[in-house]
Amino acid sequence: TSASAADLVRSLTTTTPDFPTPGILFRDLSGVFADGAAFRTVVAAMAEPFAGRFDAVAGAEARGFLFAAALAHSAGTGVLPLRKPGKLPPPVLTEEYDLEYGSAELQLRTSVASGLRVLLVDDVLATGGTLAAARRLLEKAGNVVVGATVVIELSGLGGRAAVEGLEVAALVAEG
Ligand code: AMP
Repeated sequence: TSASAADLVRSLTTTTPDFPTPGILFRDLSGVFADGAAFRTVVAAMAEPFAGRFDAVAGAEARGFLFAAALAHSAGTGVLPLRKPGKLPPPVLTEEYDLEYGSAELQLRTSVASGLRVLLVDDVLATGGTLAAARRLLEKAGNVVVGATVVIELSGLGGRAAVEGLEVAALVAEG
């Protein structure tokens, strides 16, 4: 029998203490990206709970891009890149947010996204700040955010509370 998406994530993901800063237990998914069959299985499992309910996929730079583009391509939808400041020419919308480490901003090119049902995609859900900012940005641009799908949810950080009312799917939930 083939391994489940969750099993593949557990076996192909590494956990590194105190990276990039002390106290952070860093999950790295390079092993998932590097394994074609695993990547396909994981992306399909991320899309499955939202099948038929979205017209576009949005992911935050940079690791969110990999999952968002793959998921959009397999679903036949477009992908909306949420970029770090200084990457997109105007006009853009900007949202500031706090990270598990540091703070950041996301920008969306306003001209490409309006009136869409958008699925948010990321690798790791930690504090939920990234997904919350992505949600605000896409709603500000006139879209409906239908949900978020992530590979790993760090449940102990309470990220779901930051996106209250949003349907969130995670392949693997860890303390
Ligand atoms: P947050 O906004 O706190 O939910 O953080 C989520 C974003 O930061 C995601 O885009 C992750 O890629 C990254 N991130 C936060 N914490 C971790 C962690 N412990 N391991 C790997 N990536 C993380």
